[in-house]
Amino acid sequence: TENEGNGLMSIAFPRLHIVIAGIEKIIPSIEDLDLFWPLLATHGTGQQVTAYNSIISGSRFDGEPDGPGDMYVVLIDNGRTKLLAKEQQRNALSCIRCGACLNGCPIYRSIGGHAYGTPYSGPIGAVITPHMRGLEEWNHLSFASTLCGKCTEVCPVKIPLHNLLLQNRKDAVEEGYSTTSWKRGMMVSKRMFMSRYMMDIAGPVTKNFLIRQFAGKLWGERRELPKVAPKSFKQLYNEEFRED
Ligand code: SF4
Repeated sequence: TENEGNGLMSIAFPRLHIVIAGIEKIIPSIEDLDLFWPLLATHGTGQQVTAYNSIISGSRFDGEPDGPGDMYVVLIDNGRTKLLAKEQQRNALSCIRCGACLNGCPIYRSIGGHAYGTPYSGPIGAVITPHMRGLEEWNHLSFASTLCGKCTEVCPVKIPLHNLLLQNRKDAVEEGYSTTSWKRGMMVSKRMFMSRYMMDIAGPVTKNFLIRQFAGKLWGERRELPKVAPKSFKQLYNEEFRED
């Protein structure tokens, strides 16, 4: 299914057609295309159906002018069976690659697909890549998310993407792929952010100083760090509503 005709053209000329596809691409029957074709087109490009849709049933028969002489289908597992065995995460394999979660994701829209460094980018890429290419090396993708949940909201097959990102983070920590300094930083942040008293100890000037010291480099030299407001929400609320 496509809009440019490139796929159609590229299967017409070669003498040998090799299809390489993940095992999750197999659908129960050809009748199910009735559902999948419009679902993919609507959520991928906003069309009711894409311009070119081809059903390729095999190599060319004797006397036919077009099509390859031989055709092979290579089905790739590459970690998919292991993912299927994980009850809480297996629904990531229902993805139809429509790209709606990519278009909805504020991170993807800011950094683009190449930044992910892997063929599957965006929220679904961040979910499945650690399963396919190894959690140790690729778990960072699951941390590059604000967990806003837009991806989950737009997914036509209802994959709970932001929950799966959290699950990957949990797996990464439990399998020991986080550094000691990261764990300490998280413990201190948790204690601070969960205590109103701790949050009120320092004023805005001190808070801005601390943020610059600890987060300035991470934020990047070319971006301006957001500043803590002169008065906290609690102070504004008390001034407005509290009767003493
Ligand atoms: S995860 Fe959902 S929204 Fe994202 S590409 Fe797959 S089917 Fe589309």
